[in-house]
Amino acid sequence: MDWLMGKSKGKPNGKKPAPEEKKLYLEPEYTKSRITDFEFKELVMLPREIDLNEWLASNTTTFFHHINLQYSTISEFCTGESCQTMAVCNTQYYWYDERGKKIKCTAPQYVDFVMSSVQKLVTDEDVFPTKYGKEFPNSFESLVKKICKYLFHVLAHIYSSHFKETLALELHGHLNTLYTHFILFIREFNLVDPKETTIMDDLTEVLCSSSGSSSNGSGNGSSNSAGAQNHVKER
Ligand SMILES: [Zn+2]
Repeated sequence: MDWLMGKSKGKPNGKKPAPEEKKLYLEPEYTKSRITDFEFKELVMLPREIDLNEWLASNTTTFFHHINLQYSTISEFCTGESCQTMAVCNTQYYWYDERGKKIKCTAPQYVDFVMSSVQKLVTDEDVFPTKYGKEFPNSFESLVKKICKYLFHVLAHIYSSHFKETLALELHGHLNTLYTHFILFIREFNLVDPKETTIMDDLTEVLCSSSGSSSNGSGNGSSNSAGAQNHVKER
């Protein structure tokens, strides 16, 4: 759990700002692509009778697996050469070790730090207990917040650096769906500081404000309310 002592901060990378590139992922023909029109706002809400920590644990674990899977689809393109730093738009993230020492790393290294640290946590019975009667630790919520922050960095990196490849694989519908579900989840439980997610506000605005279709009553989501995993079932 050492990584939690460290922190990761986004900072402008000091270079002169690159000319604002056209963000492919904001093109309407792509943002409208989803694999389901399910009403995620309802899906993320804590169901009655379910313990809050259980809900956070099961959703966080599910998001970890899906984001890991989504990243794996483009990981062969995310190399130390193509992504020398963990960049999202014009911001660069650094990994900090347990002593607070800044670690210079490439994007694939950063993602590897994130994924292996989260993997360790979600399989740690003391942090994410699965056995009956075992309590969640006091630090549980703050750990979930950290995990979500790092998972957000990974999602944002896929959009900002690997959207073209995602498009070529025709997986942008999955990515948009996963992103929308994830953002609505972290918002519902205030898991990530809005300042942290500002960098993707343009996309969030488009995807999350049009998510679901409750206003026109044409939603057909009731047949698909079984759980948090359902949104990426089609593969
Ligand atoms: Zn990359």
